[in-house]
Amino acid sequence: MIEVCSFCGEKKNVFEGLKGYICLDCCKASLSELEHIDDDVSDVSTSLNPFKLKKELDKYVVGQDEAKKIISVAVCNHLKRIEANDNLLEKSNILILGPTGCGKTFLMSTVSRFLKIPMVIVDATNFTQVGYVGEDVSNILKKLYIAAEGDIERCKKGIVYVDEIDKVMSKTSSHGDRDAAGTGVQQNFLKLMEGGTQVIKLPTPDGGIKEIEIDTRNILFVFGGAFVGIEEQDVKKKTIGFGGTVDVSTDENKEVTQADIVKYGFIPEFVGRVPIVVKMHELTRDDLKNILIGTDTSILKQYQAMFMMDKIKASFDDSLINEIIDNSIEKHMGARGLRGTIEKDIMNLMFEVSKYTNIKTLQITRELLNDPDAVISNNLLTKEDANSNNC
Ligand code: ADP
Repeated sequence: MIEVCSFCGEKKNVFEGLKGYICLDCCKASLSELEHIDDDVSDVSTSLNPFKLKKELDKYVVGQDEAKKIISVAVCNHLKRIEANDNLLEKSNILILGPTGCGKTFLMSTVSRFLKIPMVIVDATNFTQVGYVGEDVSNILKKLYIAAEGDIERCKKGIVYVDEIDKVMSKTSSHGDRDAAGTGVQQNFLKLMEGGTQVIKLPTPDGGIKEIEIDTRNILFVFGGAFVGIEEQDVKKKTIGFGGTVDVSTDENKEVTQADIVKYGFIPEFVGRVPIVVKMHELTRDDLKNILIGTDTSILKQYQAMFMMDKIKASFDDSLINEIIDNSIEKHMGARGLRGTIEKDIMNLMFEVSKYTNIKTLQITRELLNDPDAVISNNLLTKEDANSNNC
């Protein structure tokens, strides 16, 4: 039988598959098609809507329902705007407020992973005004270019997540002057957000420097910060310089407005470029439990999967689960504290368990974590014993 490509009928350079044949030309054509699908953000946007995006986020991000809704709408609008290529539609950068470990960064990195949009995470406290020691904001674009694997088109549609933005506030002095350092950093971010073309310089393999122009018009900027005490600020009908006045009630659960952010220490021009303000809440005990053990990718399920690879069925004691959650709540670490509380003990347990060959099940308790060798050897033969018994 003559081998012919199952796609085009070509007889030369044909490779055999399980159920057919493919020629070299069809291989190349399908690879380039795949690259095209992967890289084109606007392709995703045509089939995407906020409802679908939120459903995807729900699989990974626990709680924070309201924030997931707003971010889903904001990101879909951003993609529509890129697709429409219409300068009349203004870019809507985002500010996410919420305590440490409530999922601000995680939410945005889940969006970026799902949509295959390159994203960089930078810390605002690493940046200073030009002239001071510190990182230059133009480095952000270099990082984004690298995250986009050198593809300028993808880089131009990337996400920049700036963490700890609340730390670069500019406190007003008793004379009414703004602190220069904080204002300077905000102004640098503002320049990047304003959407001109920036030139980045990158070293070439032959020791030279290449200059790359990046149009920042479609880069989405997302700022995150805890903004401790922002709700308690007494802001009443304040003019913020970009569209009138805002009513602010003194209710503790009030929405945070752009006026509150100006009052907190941000220049109105900066706040004006970040019109979407999203508030995320401290995770509840149930949320923390879900992150720890409830979802498919939860922390303890990941450990269980690791043990399963060694054919050990591991389960976690309820009182240990409660202890981990209590510890995280006490330290105000949110979900960030969960893994940290147990990681070192689990590493030690994994080491000790590897001494044995005959463990089939493992009930993980505080007692076991504190002294794995004692608990295991009380119940099982040691590895050496087991091996000698097998002989
Ligand atoms: P922050 O709000 O300080 O930016 P992160 O997003 O960095 O917090 O959260 C730290 C880690 O905690 C994440 O990498 C993720 O594993 C977990 N996490 C935080 N919030 C959530 C959440 N709502 N759902 C699932 N995991 C979360």
